[in-house]
Amino acid sequence: METDETLTNRQGHPITNNQHIRTVGNRGPSTLENYDFLEKISHFDRERVPERVVHARGAGAHGYFEAYGTAGDEPVSKYTRAKLFQEKGKRTPVFVRFSTVTHGISSPETLRDPRGFAVKFYTEDGNYDLVGNNTPVFFIRDAIKFPDFIHTQKRHPVTHLKNPDAVWDFWSLSPESLHQVTILMSDRGIPATYRHMHGFGSHTFKWVNAEGEGVWIKYHFKTEQGIKNLTEEVGTKIAGENPDYHTQDLYEAIEKGDFPAWKLYVQIMPLEDADTYRFDPFDVTKVWSQKDYPLIEVGRMVLNRNPENYFAEVEQATFSPGTLVPGIEPSPDKMLQGRLFAYADAHRYRVGANHNSLPINRPKADVHNYQRDGQMRFDSNGGGSVYYEPNSLGGPQESPENKTTAYPVSGSADSTSYDHNDHYTQAGDLYRLLSEEERTRLVSNIVGSMKQVTKDEIKLRQIQHFYKADPEYGTRVAEGLGLSVPQEV
Ligand code: NDP
Repeated sequence: METDETLTNRQGHPITNNQHIRTVGNRGPSTLENYDFLEKISHFDRERVPERVVHARGAGAHGYFEAYGTAGDEPVSKYTRAKLFQEKGKRTPVFVRFSTVTHGISSPETLRDPRGFAVKFYTEDGNYDLVGNNTPVFFIRDAIKFPDFIHTQKRHPVTHLKNPDAVWDFWSLSPESLHQVTILMSDRGIPATYRHMHGFGSHTFKWVNAEGEGVWIKYHFKTEQGIKNLTEEVGTKIAGENPDYHTQDLYEAIEKGDFPAWKLYVQIMPLEDADTYRFDPFDVTKVWSQKDYPLIEVGRMVLNRNPENYFAEVEQATFSPGTLVPGIEPSPDKMLQGRLFAYADAHRYRVGANHNSLPINRPKADVHNYQRDGQMRFDSNGGGSVYYEPNSLGGPQESPENKTTAYPVSGSADSTSYDHNDHYTQAGDLYRLLSEEERTRLVSNIVGSMKQVTKDEIKLRQIQHFYKADPEYGTRVAEGLGLSVPQEV
């Protein structure tokens, strides 16, 4: 193809030869005068930003969220003043990033793993990030355990191999993981594509209306494509044949106009129920039964545009559960409390102090503040505008009407567990909800993984947990491993 563009270096100087480095004689050494080569290769040396410690492997797409303006029979304004939900038919642009969790940036996408489901809503009140997974619960419920948990999912420091001993040692010593382990090992542990899975906010959040009245809520994105999964065998086969299976599926579906969509539902709990509900509603290893708190539809999300550049949009996208808008507030969930800090901190390290100014992360709402400078401040840096506050120069001012709700707290500052320690009922409920074929595959997936554990002590400890969830569950896993359920159960 003909072009009238001249190839230049990053200073805008014309490149005269992009095929050969400059040497002293054809067989001689290259020189430091070789500016174009040094600039080209040194930029290449820096092409990667650090991959995410978790959720490294991902795919993303743009789309919109359309509000219904209602929550069931009620106007949604009864529960939240968040503007993105208010008006029937109102569309808010979104960017969604799906991911696997524990495997690295180039790993096969059809391995057994939870899937990240992160949504950035570009609202008129600034960005709102809902950074969830395809599972309603999580393995642990206290953020201080997260680095240890992830170490067990990553590689052994000596062999650099995955380490089933560490995985099951940690899980067997952290029985709160049982519910999520059951979901992970079930059919839903390998979604067929990113389109064929649900998304969950997982944590409890608080919705607050214009009067300052709150409710606790949980989010559920239900796929309109239907749930589809891959068996362990098919997932493993595809992993070898096409490691990019999920990314390709999402890209091609959107390219041909087959836009994936999800309905967004919330469960709503009156604030006072949190004191009496039979599970701690802030414990992210538990669900709220839909029989107690039914799903209420509030809108619909459609993904209809692929990124134009993977690195600029998907890799540099930064999501944080702390990015909230007026009308949506955190809950005391001890896992969420840690995530409120951890995500933005990871992005400051990974992408830089000014990651929020990148096009993919920049709010579509106006941004006015007194922050200045920092590495890679690539916008106008506030120009000559007033750079401190308070000031008498007409700079941007606080809006007290948007403040988050004050709430009473009591107790001693201390490191304490949740009061509630029933890790078995809900994992058992899930087991009992499965068909016979689903149970068989669940047990087979668990046995396939636990067979690799070298210590019987770990296997027996874990079998006890399965048994406490449901005796049949524990017995079948024990049989599969050629062991007996330990006596003390
Ligand atoms: P409900 O019958 O009201 O809800 C059951 C939920 O389980 C539905 O959301 C359903 O989602 C989901 N589900 C159905 N089959 C499977 C499966 N094979 N693997 C994973 N999830 C499945 O009962 P409860 O609300 O009392 O919950 C019972 C158990 O269901 C819980 O202990 C939990 O493990 C599981 N669950 C509960 C959720 C909740 O928010 N309450 C959410 C997801 C799971 P779908 O309609 O898409 O099939």
